[in-house]
Amino acid sequence: MPSALYLDYAATTPVDPLVVDRMTQALTSEQTYGNAESKTHQYGWLAEQAVENARMDLAEAVGAEASDVIWTSGATESNNLAIHGVLAALRKAESLKTTGHKSNFHIITSMIEHKSVLKTSLAVGQCEDVDVTFLKPDSNGEIFADQVQSAITPQTCLVSLMQVNNELGTINPIAEIADLLMGSSILFHVDAAQSLTKISLNFKALGVDLMSLSAHKAYGPKGVGVLLANSGARNRLSPLLFGGDHEWGLRPGTVPTHQIIGMAWAAVLARQRFEQDYAHILRLQQQFCEGLDRLHQAVWHAGQAKNRIPHIISVGFKGLRSESLLKALTGLAVATGSACNTVKMQPSHVLKACGISAELADSTLRFSFGRLTQTEDVARVVEQLEQVIQRLAG
Ligand code: PMP
Repeated sequence: MPSALYLDYAATTPVDPLVVDRMTQALTSEQTYGNAESKTHQYGWLAEQAVENARMDLAEAVGAEASDVIWTSGATESNNLAIHGVLAALRKAESLKTTGHKSNFHIITSMIEHKSVLKTSLAVGQCEDVDVTFLKPDSNGEIFADQVQSAITPQTCLVSLMQVNNELGTINPIAEIADLLMGSSILFHVDAAQSLTKISLNFKALGVDLMSLSAHKAYGPKGVGVLLANSGARNRLSPLLFGGDHEWGLRPGTVPTHQIIGMAWAAVLARQRFEQDYAHILRLQQQFCEGLDRLHQAVWHAGQAKNRIPHIISVGFKGLRSESLLKALTGLAVATGSACNTVKMQPSHVLKACGISAELADSTLRFSFGRLTQTEDVARVVEQLEQVIQRLAG
């Protein structure tokens, strides 16, 4: 049993017991264990009904239509489907052209995306017919609408930007960028993997075309996610995988009924508890930041961002190395930069793009609070930080 205090909710969250109950039931219940694609008997019809109910619940919880929901294995797959899928559909349309002239395609994204967007964009950028622009954020990790505007070319077919940055907690002005793109043929994809539970999500009101979501960041199970695609975008997507006709032919494979039911219920709970959860985390953030104020080595990255969530706080500790801090903070489960980077212990590409020195990036810890974090926990973290910093710096 780990005894450390878990403060890595941006990496993943425990599954809510209410979600577990529904999932467990779904695994064995005659109402749900059938294959939703079995059209010849009741078990299949019931499973299909359960999947469709979950689709409606999830859609309602995030302000989308049920027909916008494409179930995937997580935000990584959703991001890949959005980027590769849009390009594949465009290339298919190109190949049907009778004229000899072939188009080039241009994608706009940013330097601080999650690796599932960044590496996908780098990979497609290696193709001869694709150019990619990686926008540079300001020092708080924010991308602005006028940067997107200036990067648009006649070839631009897709803008892909994250809503909430997973390392800094900065929120991008998605509605403003969507307004800018409204009426153009450019599709707007938003990686909202960190948004569910942390901001009040409304897909339709935001005016974006495609949105990636992940269940395990929102007290749901790992291994399931969604790509929301409005009707216009759905008609301009091609699948990455080929097989059955599931999910409008865009994502073949037997749908994991229990995972889907779990994700939908996590999204319903996220909406029901949003105000309460947000107020709780905001109080924790204020308490934590008051504690940080007493540590003169602490530098809160993106602390001045105009729009940010209180759940994620990235702090550089001047003159100290995150590795030594981690070793000394034995009672704390926190990340350095982002969890996806810790495997390789590479300096964070996000901090680098924000102009933070390699030295300060190397002294950075990311604290992320969640539903189960208590006031006493934050007091304990601050106390431990004070002690450890005094010891290491002294
Ligand atoms: N995008 C962002 C912003 C994320 O934080 C993550 C998870 N670290 C992902 C995408 C990938 O999500 P998943 O684990 O569901 O593939």
